[in-house]
Amino acid sequence: MPELPEVESVVRALAPALTGRSIKSVEVRNTSTVAGSPGRPAALAGRRIDSVARRGKYIRIHCDRNLGLAIHLRMTGWLGVKTAMELAAEADPYVRVLFHLHPLKEGAASQKEALVFRDIRKFGRVWCGPDPALDGLKALAKLGPDALAIEPAAFAERLRARRGRLKSLLLDQTFLAGLGNIYADEALHEARVHPLQEAQRLSNAKALALHAAGKGVLERACAAGGSSIDDYLHPDGTPGWFQRELKVYGREGEPCRRCGAKVRRVVVGQRGTWFCPKCQRKG
Ligand SMILES: [Zn+2]
Repeated sequence: MPELPEVESVVRALAPALTGRSIKSVEVRNTSTVAGSPGRPAALAGRRIDSVARRGKYIRIHCDRNLGLAIHLRMTGWLGVKTAMELAAEADPYVRVLFHLHPLKEGAASQKEALVFRDIRKFGRVWCGPDPALDGLKALAKLGPDALAIEPAAFAERLRARRGRLKSLLLDQTFLAGLGNIYADEALHEARVHPLQEAQRLSNAKALALHAAGKGVLERACAAGGSSIDDYLHPDGTPGWFQRELKVYGREGEPCRRCGAKVRRVVVGQRGTWFCPKCQRKG
């Protein structure tokens, strides 16, 4: 499932392609994709896209007149822009929602004419409506501070105030927005902290180390265009390459890249969790 770096890569690619473009019409091919929208998708016709942003793992598109979109890619969602020729040639059965755009210049074949939400498994969501209602959607309203933006002292203080094991806490989007299974495991490994460590018992120095590790991993992954594991691809169809840099995630039985001990896998809160039993000890 895409995490902060993958969603950030989508936003960085789409912002220049979409900002300033106007939506001509909205074509919903699968109604469950837009289920729960606080407004009618068709109300976006005629609106100008002012910005493309990220909140946690959500993509937020802001239009004029305070209308917009909130999008979660979930398992197999893909967001990108296509030319009219590409759309006609592909006849893609997995396209769930199309936002047709007003052409910038009449008759230019190379220009992108639609924002496309494609989703094989149909778990992804596209919510349409007024901005305040989108930000007020239950999942968005409850998001904690962004994993890339939170300051070290604030992170350490939040950890101290919470009960629970670190791995579960890092995945909790109300605690911290943006981290998922891959980058939580990588951050814990880099900080040399055990995933089952009780948050409240973590020393301040370790909490600060975990903050620095998380930020570092996320920044390097953003620069690499995220990790292409399972289905994630950039808006232009190319993969990210951070999966090659992963130190523990998905590497059960392989040597830790720091100390050579065998990487272990345990299940925490129903999620596979990879760590090095030698580098990451409980304090
Ligand atoms: Zn190790």
